[in-house]
Parts: sequence; structure tokens; C-alpha cells
Amino acid sequence: MPRKSVEKRPSRMPNPKIVNKKCAFCQDKDINIDYKNIDLVSKYVTSKGKISSRRINGNCAKHQRKVAKEIDRARFLALVPYV
Ligand SMILES: [Zn+2]
Repeated sequence: MPRKSVEKRPSRMPNPKIVNKKCAFCQDKDINIDYKNIDLVSKYVTSKGKISSRRINGNCAKHQRKVAKEIDRARFLALVPYV
């Protein structure tokens, strides 16, 4: 039986989740990362309760560290769920 020709796709398909954007906190210096700001903090938590990675949210290392710290504080106060 002849094999059907499979359409060749590029090996590295771009993931739609990953958007190369600049760090939101570097762009807008007025944003204060704070565990009390639940709306902001919960934006960086996935639906499963994990902290979203830098690859996805586009933060720089400095601000990602700060966000992770504040999420940990918010989790301790039960403002954001644990995994
Ligand atoms: Zn930044």
C-alpha cells in the first residue's frame, strides 16, 4: 500500500501562548508590584495556580523575581491559591 504523502510542516511551530513582548513593569514604572494588588498578582498565576513563566508573561528577570515573591506572600495570606 502506498504511503500517503504527509504535508510537511515546519519543525518549530510558533506557540501562540508565547508572545515576545516587553516587560510590563519596565514599560510602566508607576505599577507597584504588591501582594495586596490581587488583580495584578492573579494575572501572573495560571488557571492551575502556578506562577506563569517568564517565557509566557514576558517579564524581565528582575520583575519576574519580584512578582514571584509577591505571589508567595499573597498565597500565604490565601489571596491566591496554592497549586
Ligand atoms: Zn522589568
